[in-house]
Amino acid sequence: MISGKNYIGKLLTAKGSTKFKTFNPLLNQHNTWEITEATIEEVHQAAELAAVAFKTYAQFSGKKKATFLRAIAEEIEVLGDSLLEMYCTESGLPLGRAIGERGRTLGQLNAFASHLETGDWVEATIDTAQPERQPIPKVDLRKMNIALGPVVVFGASNFPLAFSTAGGDVAAALAAGCSVIVKSHPMHASTGEMVASAVLKAAHKTGMPNGVFSNLNSKGNEVGEQLVLHPNVKAVGFTGSLHGGRALYNLAATRSEPIPVFAEMGSVNPVVLLPNALKNSAKNLAKTFAGSITLGAGQFCTNPGLIIGIASKELTNFTKSLAEEIRQIAPICMLHPNISKAFQTNKEKALEQEGVSLIAAISEPVPPNYADQMVITVSGLRFIKNPNLHHEVFGPFSLIIQCSDQTELEAVVRSLEGQLTGTVISDNNEVAAYTTVVNELRQKVGRIIFNGVPTGVEVCPSMLHGGPYPASTDSRFTAVGVDAIKRFVRPFSFQDWPNELLPEELKNENPLAILRTVNGIKTTKSL
Ligand code: NAP
Repeated sequence: MISGKNYIGKLLTAKGSTKFKTFNPLLNQHNTWEITEATIEEVHQAAELAAVAFKTYAQFSGKKKATFLRAIAEEIEVLGDSLLEMYCTESGLPLGRAIGERGRTLGQLNAFASHLETGDWVEATIDTAQPERQPIPKVDLRKMNIALGPVVVFGASNFPLAFSTAGGDVAAALAAGCSVIVKSHPMHASTGEMVASAVLKAAHKTGMPNGVFSNLNSKGNEVGEQLVLHPNVKAVGFTGSLHGGRALYNLAATRSEPIPVFAEMGSVNPVVLLPNALKNSAKNLAKTFAGSITLGAGQFCTNPGLIIGIASKELTNFTKSLAEEIRQIAPICMLHPNISKAFQTNKEKALEQEGVSLIAAISEPVPPNYADQMVITVSGLRFIKNPNLHHEVFGPFSLIIQCSDQTELEAVVRSLEGQLTGTVISDNNEVAAYTTVVNELRQKVGRIIFNGVPTGVEVCPSMLHGGPYPASTDSRFTAVGVDAIKRFVRPFSFQDWPNELLPEELKNENPLAILRTVNGIKTTKSL
């Protein structure tokens, strides 16, 4: 049963009069129940409570926080099929995707729990005193990561579970020891409410302070803006559009105390096709990339939106095969009418640009909210000169760039903005002759892929999901994998602090037996 209310800590509240409804894109109609937008007063209450809860929660041991994260995963599982049904109702995504995304969400929570249990994430570094040092004695310094403070998380429309209410950003912030306020995504507010109820049950069962987690509804910018501006809030996690992420980043910078906004935004994920690879496997590559372009109606931030090659008979063969494959794939439903309208507008705008021609489109009309995939092409020179072609078209869309030679290929890569991923398709050691292209690509991306597709983001410690702006606002961090915790901590040093008053992680005895760097040497030994 969906209440449509906001959770301020464990309190369900709906003081506001602004209501909205979520949408079922498959049925092309609003869902019947109403969601109540949080008021500004409720925003303040949530922020006040988050600050109080933070004081207690940040002091909890890694093991205690791990129990909480594991309990969240268990409570989400307890929601069973009703959560999956709501997910599908509010997103139009198929059941298989819902099951997969739930598994990923539980996996992320459990991975952060394990990370906390090892304790190494605090990166304890100890430099012991040298009272005899000349000309001045050396002090005892001990450094570790500590939680930043209350964090606001804006979930993504395209991942109602894995990047939303108890998704990667929330798991990372809670793991760090931060209290969290979620600004629920209006497209899947009820899925969000169900997950929020699971988080709060887990908080209650594991003895977490009230206010460690809140979930506020809104459709429109005000609630999100007020959260970002609230003095109690110390960091923001965001996944979504460049427009939204940049607006929140700018807003945070206007505060008297600016705070970090870790936004993961748009990307066109360039794919470089090298000539020999095309010669030998144009047909296979075309099939593979048609699948990747249309996967999930192209609603992935890692969708291959740009395919770059050197004009040749082989590239022509590839584009022909890609066109055939693309036309054979049945269009599927997008998340929401707004997203499908934006897709139609943006792909038409791209097609209207000078020198652009159509490679493949769906000729039959599609049902409302369905995405009719499109592939277009343009020369390298035209692409470089036209910034309108550099933007993400969110949906099943790709632009093939035909370069005159290797120098132009390099220039195209150099002209790109920051990206989440870059892919090189190469035959054997062909890539060795394209080192300059690869080096240019490395400057632009967070992850470089060899002979694969960019869609499919493995959740593991070595994953880097982020990249130079505008892929993300801070390329030094990842939004996926346990290192995402680093966005929500700050390093902190104790100087000459009495051993008994130090946190466990820094005590001489190393009671948690964690790996530390002591006088430059990594060790689990006590001092
Ligand atoms: P979005 O429009 O950027 O919204 C994400 C969240 O941020 C929502 O909760 C939204 O709240 C809030 N928000 C956005 N702009 C804001 C502002 N100026 N002030 C305060 N809050 C703001 O992204 P989306 O809804 O997920 O999808 C819309 C478009 O984003 C898509 O069509 C696609 O182009 C892009 N997108 C990109 C990625 C990616 O990973 N690259 C992922 C998803 C979507 P309200 O809606 O309540 O304002």
